[in-house]
Amino acid sequence: MRVYELAKKEKVSSKVLLEIIKGLGIKGKVAASSLSKESIEKISSHLKAEKTKTKKEEKKKPSFVSRAPIITLMGHVDHGKTSILDVIRESQLAASEYGEITQHIGAYRANVAGKEMVFLDTPGHEAFTAIRARGARITDLVVLVVAADDGVMPQTVEAIDHCKEAKVPVVVAINKIDKTGINVEAVKNELAKLGLTPEEWSGKTIFVETSTKTKTGIKKLLEVLSLEAEMLELKANPGKSGEGTVIETKMDRREGKTISIIVQDGKIKVGDNFIVGDTFGKVKALINEEGKNLREAGPSVPVKILGAESLPLPGDILRVVDSGAKEINEKRKLPVQNDLRRATAKVTLEDFFSGVKKDNRNELKLILKGDVAGSVEAVSESLEKLEAPEIEVNIIHRGIGGINESDIMLAAASNAIVIGFNIPVENRIKELAEKEEIDLRTYRLIYEVIDDVKKAMEGILEPKELEENIGEAEIKRVFVLSDGRAVAGCIVSKGKVIRNAKTQLIRGEKIIYQGKISGLRRFKENAKEVATNYECGIQLENFNDFKAGDHFRIYQVKKVPQKL
Ligand code: GDP
Repeated sequence: MRVYELAKKEKVSSKVLLEIIKGLGIKGKVAASSLSKESIEKISSHLKAEKTKTKKEEKKKPSFVSRAPIITLMGHVDHGKTSILDVIRESQLAASEYGEITQHIGAYRANVAGKEMVFLDTPGHEAFTAIRARGARITDLVVLVVAADDGVMPQTVEAIDHCKEAKVPVVVAINKIDKTGINVEAVKNELAKLGLTPEEWSGKTIFVETSTKTKTGIKKLLEVLSLEAEMLELKANPGKSGEGTVIETKMDRREGKTISIIVQDGKIKVGDNFIVGDTFGKVKALINEEGKNLREAGPSVPVKILGAESLPLPGDILRVVDSGAKEINEKRKLPVQNDLRRATAKVTLEDFFSGVKKDNRNELKLILKGDVAGSVEAVSESLEKLEAPEIEVNIIHRGIGGINESDIMLAAASNAIVIGFNIPVENRIKELAEKEEIDLRTYRLIYEVIDDVKKAMEGILEPKELEENIGEAEIKRVFVLSDGRAVAGCIVSKGKVIRNAKTQLIRGEKIIYQGKISGLRRFKENAKEVATNYECGIQLENFNDFKAGDHFRIYQVKKVPQKL
């Protein structure tokens, strides 16, 4: 038998087999080498042992495999996001790694030197943040597109803030470098000021100069993305039952209800039962971006699924279940469960006022919008000065102009409070804020903003414990009752004595007892409290050693909110 024949029989590659042959010290260097009967037996028993060994190991640990990165393009409108995605798509066709992209399913795969990547093809941070607002995360890497002729614009800043909040690494594409009269260095400078310092300036961010007109830099961009993705060491376990995040949904005339998802872990197969958002279904078909029907889809694969009962929302998680998807879904409809759909409980300033610390949160995240640059700066400066040891005010995004959808969605995704200064708020924004349960506040005066935030911060500071004096009493005489317990006959010299209040018994300079007033009498009657200049009998728990001349200090412990 020759090496390649044995390889076929043992279901391993000739290459692997040749390595084993080498390891066992058997003759045979190429696939065509012939093997003796003895050698074959040796190899077969070695393979058998290997197989049982790996089987055991497989049982022990989940089999993680690396998965393709999922990439989103973000940036200001018209800076070239769609154009870059188009060029990437075309380059894929030219490379004929994949067939034509015939279906819009919200994402597509690209292949760079044998490495796969997935691009979400709904550019912009709306989709990105909407998905995050549902508590899901799909993007592994962001390409921030900045047009060289336009530089940093409001949505560029928004996108950067959204990425910072989501802690997603960013690669910058300075686009439209074919244009004349541009200043790339100036754009880099603007971005460096926002925390994206180019690598060549000893920063951490990779910048690629691109043009979709001349197709410059796109290949480099893909290479950079592939390298950055490698550094992330993205892993998934295809052995698990499937799980993915909805990126788009559509009511199609021919196909009915379709949901596009990106598989994030495990495998989704035709015939699988699933639950998603507040609905469920059974996978009737899996269709990729080329319009091909798949039998199964593994980690990082974007697919369109047919067979949902109704349409979920982008950002909803789809999970494969063994059976009874309908029943599981019904159970999930209980109000409590529905709340769980939102991964994060929304925070309000009132929560802070009343000291409610959700998830032990001691960071007050704010989004600040104002009418002019001066006012936004003034407000944020004053807010950032409000320091407290235990809390931090973090303005995650600030900008000039009206409050927009993106602000609300960022607030929803990050659990922030939105503050508008000297700006009106459109009704649709108010409605969205209500729907997303976002605390949206508008102010006209700086001190009002500061005051409210200050109060909120004071609310979450741990209250201080303060002792408050209530009264004093002096022992005149000591009585001993028939049961042996002692009563201190006192005169209240200051304030009052209250039953069950805290007390210290002081002899000279020493505290000889600290505890509670367990008994208080006025003549023979039990009393709740006794006022100044009245006589009373005081009893303590487990203490009888009173002496005339001792003093009681009566006090209470109060929790006082801390002030900044
Ligand atoms: P998006 O809003 O970020 O998706 O931007 P688009 O991709 O739609 O591009 C906006 C405009 O800029 C279109 O008219 C494009 O043709 C143009 N554009 C995009 N990339 C380039 C480029 O590299 N050079 C030049 N000169 N124009 C570009």
